Amino acid sequence: MAGVKLNSLVKVYSVLLLRKRPMHGYELLKLISAIVGRRVSAGNVYPFLNVLRRNRLIALSSSGKRDRKEYRLTASGLKVARGIENGFAELVDVSFSGKVRVCAHCSCKLVSGWCKKLVNGEELIFCCRRCALAYRRD
Ligand SMILES: [Zn+2]
Repeated sequence: MAGVKLNSLVKVYSVLLLRKRPMHGYELLKLISAIVGRRVSAGNVYPFLNVLRRNRLIALSSSGKRDRKEYRLTASGLKVARGIENGFAELVDVSFSGKVRVCAHCSCKLVSGWCKKLVNGEELIFCCRRCALAYRRD
């Protein structure tokens, strides 16, 4: 991981897409282009795939009749992909912290669409009417 910098969306998506399944470089290029909404050039992807390969985060395997090479994540590459996912999860947590409400009945987390109900003079938050009614019976 020392020689790998994930300093662009193209690089991040390369790793995350290969986490889903092994694929050919061209397929990866097409998928990333579709996600970022512009044509991504081979010069943005293949050199990075080589960096990943030199750092043993991906490996090449042959497949198909034309024997084209498929890239797949190695065990180390999978760790890097999980690290990215955890980073995004933390980012989402931070951006929603203070905005997330918790249902007083079922404890599920809510970012919008909750309902409020006065219970013994206290305004409580519920995810749905069913939870609000069930809470009164508790
Ligand atoms: Zn609930």
